[in-house]
Amino acid sequence: MDRVININPGHDGERSWQDQANCMGVDPDLFFPERGASTREAKEVCRGCVVRADCLEYALTNGEKFGIWGGMSERERRRIRRQRALARRTGVASA
Ligand code: SF4
Repeated sequence: MDRVININPGHDGERSWQDQANCMGVDPDLFFPERGASTREAKEVCRGCVVRADCLEYALTNGEKFGIWGGMSERERRRIRRQRALARRTGVASA
């Protein structure tokens, strides 16, 4: 089973980038490691993914709280969300 279909079953209209996902066919468990487990392998898959930016943006936009998306962990995405929120408040463009 591929990971993207498993976790995003209701987003058929947004599937175009997902069709190019490097994680297609990769064990979904790799992207949802137990707390404290290594995320290295999942991030390695993401590193070579051509839709990494789309994936990350999807996760940020939809507030995905779990798993590796766009090569980033929950904690890393939280940091980006905080930076963006701060940038919005202060009127400074985010990275
Ligand atoms: S960035 Fe990673 S999780 Fe996202 S589609 Fe690509 S391989 Fe899958």
